Amino acid sequence: MKTMITGVRPTGSITLANYIGGIKGFVEQQYKYNSLIFIADIHGLTTYIDPKEIRNNILDITAMYMACGIDINNTALFMQSDVLEHCNLGFLMSFQCSVGELSRMTQFKSKKQQLGKNEKDMGLFIYPTLMAADILLYDAEIVPVGADQRQHIEKTRDFGERFNNIYGNTFKLPEYQIPKIGAKIMNLQDPTIKMSKSAPKDDKGTIFMLDDIEITRKKIMSACTDSDGKVYYDEENKPGISNLISLICVVNNITIEEANEKYKDYNYKDFKIEVADSVCNFIKEIQDKFYQYRNDEKYLKEILTNGANKARVYASKKMKFVKEKVGLSI
Ligand code: AMP
Repeated sequence: MKTMITGVRPTGSITLANYIGGIKGFVEQQYKYNSLIFIADIHGLTTYIDPKEIRNNILDITAMYMACGIDINNTALFMQSDVLEHCNLGFLMSFQCSVGELSRMTQFKSKKQQLGKNEKDMGLFIYPTLMAADILLYDAEIVPVGADQRQHIEKTRDFGERFNNIYGNTFKLPEYQIPKIGAKIMNLQDPTIKMSKSAPKDDKGTIFMLDDIEITRKKIMSACTDSDGKVYYDEENKPGISNLISLICVVNNITIEEANEKYKDYNYKDFKIEVADSVCNFIKEIQDKFYQYRNDEKYLKEILTNGANKARVYASKKMKFVKEKVGLSI
């Protein structure tokens, strides 16, 4: 059976885009694979975050994963930092790459621009080596992610392949699995930038899964569109409307073609009402489940402990094998 893995960093509050890019595809396929889903907490520390906030976010994400349908009888749900082999292998992965190639990574370049001149950027710089370890450690072949992670998965393959070429066959190489609809959900106010959970809490363009439902409705109703007045999908010329179409398709499980046909005679206001109704119903259902899980921290911690115990079985075996390969076992 093949292995599937994905993760979310516990920075900021989960957005609808995170659900679409990483969680939805995972939940739908979790029984087809040996499945692991983790909270990328070490990645979350690459830029400073208040310890109280990250602790709270970790529990939020655990409850959110559960509310979205992760079945812990089938899937290992755990914190990255609970399985020390991630860091061990991450360090070894850094020997498989050059400073030049890491400095050319799109995410590093864009995040570095957002940092002040003298801010610490080493964590961001070596992010791809830890991410490669997160995946290779479990021989994961399927990685459901949003389009923004494509380059990181390609690098993971490169590092794994280089290692295999030097030390002999050690790692399976992963494939990314990017959703057909919603690979890159855009900010509702500025559909030229992606929706991101690092946006401020009151950002009108970002749908946070835990936002008050009426706030979500307002955000959708005030989404940026265009002056054409016609509802159909055209990412290049109608990014705002296309983004809303992606959202309604995902939450109602319909295709872009079906949405084009169904909403072709709608004006923008009526179409937005449809999007808002669908998205709000969808999120409300998840929120109800979320709060049930979130109120029981003891259970959430138990889930993470059990998940880490399960993940550690693979990880320790793999790390032992890696150490043998490189000559660190005597
Ligand atoms: P992060 O927010 O970087 O922890 O990402 C967690 C998951 O959400 C990854 O699979 C990302 O690719 C996905 N993701 C983040 N932002 C978006 C977006 N705007 N559209 C689609 N997927 C996204």
